[in-house]
Amino acid sequence: MKSGIQPALINDPFGDPGLLVQFLLQKRALLFDLGDLSALSNGALLKVSHVFVSHTHIDHFIGFDRLLRSLFGREKTVTIFGPKNIIQNVAGKLAGFTWNLVDQYDESLTIEVVEVRESGLLKGTFRAIERFQLCDERQEPFVDGLIVDDPTFSVRTAILEHRVPCLGFALEEKPHVNIDKERLESMKADPGPWLNELKQSVLRDESESTLIEVPFKELGGFRTEDLPMGQLKNDLVEVFPGQKIGYVVDTVFNDRNRKKIVGLVDSADIFFCESPFLADEEERGQARYHLTSRQAGILAREAGVKQLQVFHFSSRHKDCREQFYNEAQEAFQG
Ligand SMILES: [Zn+2]
Ligand SMILES: [Zn+2]
Repeated sequence: MKSGIQPALINDPFGDPGLLVQFLLQKRALLFDLGDLSALSNGALLKVSHVFVSHTHIDHFIGFDRLLRSLFGREKTVTIFGPKNIIQNVAGKLAGFTWNLVDQYDESLTIEVVEVRESGLLKGTFRAIERFQLCDERQEPFVDGLIVDDPTFSVRTAILEHRVPCLGFALEEKPHVNIDKERLESMKADPGPWLNELKQSVLRDESESTLIEVPFKELGGFRTEDLPMGQLKNDLVEVFPGQKIGYVVDTVFNDRNRKKIVGLVDSADIFFCESPFLADEEERGQARYHLTSRQAGILAREAGVKQLQVFHFSSRHKDCREQFYNEAQEAFQG
């Protein structure tokens, strides 16, 4: 499927968990979890606008410093979402450094932190220019799990159990369209507001016989022609239907979580799901509040996702890489 976003795990499945989602048509990226980020370039980190932290166990949060190091000294705002206490966790990280020289920088980093609680979203701001002192604390409603609603994508979350609250996420790219510039040129049509009209008409799924007035440049002036939207769409428009990506890590297999996860990642195109334990280790998984390969497969099947990608494998099982994939696939296919 054509899509404007590209998700990729940051590390090998035996390494720290984390997902980078790059936007192909914008200089932008999203990060899910802040584990070991050493595999990412500074260039990739500079594109990050939003970070979604499942919880702050060390393998999911040790990379905060690396991200801060890349972004510090830049005029940029990055928003970090996380579970209860994330504002204190970020404040603690920032308090570990000395910021007496911040006024010598021309550009100032702003870190917005959003703490997701059942009762609402708690927000706080840390500005480099103010030596990263917490300010602007405020509370906002938390409705339908929605935490980001951007023109190009939205993100929903569910608060899952992992002995501490742990957030699962679903990213949905909004449908969008792109005009093929080369084809527009070869058609000799004159660019203008009609292109926007065409895009909106395609996005609204209007009748293909709808006529759009297209201006053409000609020697000595302009002429216009009414052309059917369907024809223009075929000739000029690339349609990106939008992709849905699920991300769930560090959670226990019980009825409450199961229901929340299936609802959250319902019909996702790709579901990234943790699987630290093998199928025969259910008891270990329950005791440690983690999923097995088979449980990841069951969740994926119940949610009707198109593709399952398991990761976050326990390092005790370094020799069982294929077994993780096989067991998860077997349960996923039913
Ligand atoms: Zn954990
Ligand atoms: Zn973990």
